[in-house]
Amino acid sequence: MKVAVFSTNQYDQDFLTQYNTGHEVKFLKVSLSEETAAVAFGYEAVCVFVNDKLNKAVLDLLAVAGLKLIVLRCAGFNNVDLPYAEELNIPVLRVPAYSPEAVAEHAMALILTLNRKTHKAYNRVREGNFSLEKLMGVNLFQRTVAVIGTGNIGQAFCRILKGFGCTVKAYDPYPSSDMQDLGVIYGTLEDTLRDADIISLHCPLNSSTQYLINENQLKQLKRGAMLINTSRGGLIHTHAVIKALKSGIIGSLGLDVYEQESEFFFHDFSEDVIQDDQLTQLISFPNVLITGHQGFLTAEALSEIAKVTFGNIDAWYSG
Ligand code: NAD
Repeated sequence: MKVAVFSTNQYDQDFLTQYNTGHEVKFLKVSLSEETAAVAFGYEAVCVFVNDKLNKAVLDLLAVAGLKLIVLRCAGFNNVDLPYAEELNIPVLRVPAYSPEAVAEHAMALILTLNRKTHKAYNRVREGNFSLEKLMGVNLFQRTVAVIGTGNIGQAFCRILKGFGCTVKAYDPYPSSDMQDLGVIYGTLEDTLRDADIISLHCPLNSSTQYLINENQLKQLKRGAMLINTSRGGLIHTHAVIKALKSGIIGSLGLDVYEQESEFFFHDFSEDVIQDDQLTQLISFPNVLITGHQGFLTAEALSEIAKVTFGNIDAWYSG
């Protein structure tokens, strides 16, 4: 098949080239949007990621260009207008569980860093400052952690938390018996959030989960709670979270995802000014740690993504 890969990073090219099962692949060094969709003209499949926008306008352009298949290199699919793709008769395939551990471990990395303030220590030591001022942390051992969503990633995360001796509470409309056997305590969303020292989000973004963490939910939290989001930016109401950081309701915040991330993440703005007041405010808090959607970025995950992506293309091609 003729496959157009929308990707702005070298990793995709390296891993997809390694696992290509014989397709004619073109790497387009742009993200997919209304402005760039025309470059997919003449390709039978587009291979896209979380930052590519597949709204109605883009899908119309791709359909006119003769597109037959959309392959996502990710698990989440909130960036695709699925009902419209179905209407256009364009199948959408994804990579459901390429490495839950990659994202779960990244969530834990954010927790440990914020908890022990190693991001501050790292910068200080590089300046020759070995003082311990304002570096006191708290033990993770015996803390109560709320896991919102116990699918593939949430479950991998619960296992890690149990290893650290945490009390793990969870909310998921479909509780897992494996997690219950592990000692995870399921409750309502409200009860789970209220009891937590740390909250970590692992559910998908859809119309019912948008702004799951909003002003009302934030009011119920334990003062000084830590909030971690490695799932999708739209799960939290950023403005309300900034207010909660200012008032001390949220004691620390770790984000791998951001509400408007398609405009910022994966791009290098080091020579430029970030034109986003909320992101600029968030970065200015010393107790906020933001990474640019790298939870998935391990060698094992990238290999699996590439393998499954070509497996998906082959399966569709052979009917
Ligand atoms: P999954 O489908 O295996 O699990 C999602 C779980 O969320 C399911 O158990 C589901 O029942 C639950 N859920 C649905 N609605 C809920 C709600 N309202 N409240 C609580 N739980 C709810 O998905 P996964 O593979 O575990 O991935 C979870 C999310 O992680 C993805 O949707 C994606 O947005 C994100 N993700 C991020 C990265 C990254 O690099 N940061 C990488 C992969 C996935």
